[in-house]
Amino acid sequence: MRNTVGWQVEGPSSTLRRTPLERRDLRPDDLAVRVDYCGVCHTDLHAVSGRDGEAGPPLTPGHEFTGVVTETGPAVTGFTVGDPVAVGNIVDSCGECAMCRVGQENFCHAFPTLTYDGTDRHDGSTTLGGYSREYVVRDRFAYPLPPGLDPAAAAPLLCAGVTVWEPLQALGVGPEPRRGGRTGRPGPPRGQDGRVARRRHVGHQPLTRQGRRCPRARSPRSHRLHGPGTDG
Ligand SMILES: [Zn+2]
Ligand SMILES: [Zn+2]
Repeated sequence: MRNTVGWQVEGPSSTLRRTPLERRDLRPDDLAVRVDYCGVCHTDLHAVSGRDGEAGPPLTPGHEFTGVVTETGPAVTGFTVGDPVAVGNIVDSCGECAMCRVGQENFCHAFPTLTYDGTDRHDGSTTLGGYSREYVVRDRFAYPLPPGLDPAAAAPLLCAGVTVWEPLQALGVGPEPRRGGRTGRPGPPRGQDGRVARRRHVGHQPLTRQGRRCPRARSPRSHRLHGPGTDG
């Protein structure tokens, strides 16, 4: 195991404490990431406060972070040590269902593995989030951080950002000239069908292959914490 440090809630408490943490040894397709910035999602606050008086496995929040690759597994080809990366709310999925095959792992029929308080698909452990100095993540769920993008400002794009961006791109709202005071307009641009328009806008999004919402909000547990219809 790898030793690091993070902020964690243990037992029936809602107090985060700095504590030593263990990360798994790298699997062939894993990256070790030094976490430099982690957004504070409202889901984190719900998760922490939801522990008040209720026992549960140790909770380390944080599912929108940026950092730098410090080590790669032997099968990793898309990243090298020193690459700036960003990680969001999903760190694994079945990879086989129809939604995973089209890059919509947030709708994975087997439910995606969440960055924290999720269940690792290989060893059954509870995932620990980005309020931590190091995170170990499967390479296909890390995203290159574009040069020139402030890594501190980019971190919240990995959850709240894509939550807003995904419906905008799905509706075809794009970088068109202002018309009547509006920035873009819903629906595909004239002369293009929606499929082409959506592809074009996907191409403008540097951090994700597809828009990803916060799937925690749709889990039974989240309904207990959030109430139906509330997103992270
Ligand atoms: Zn799937
Ligand atoms: Zn979130």
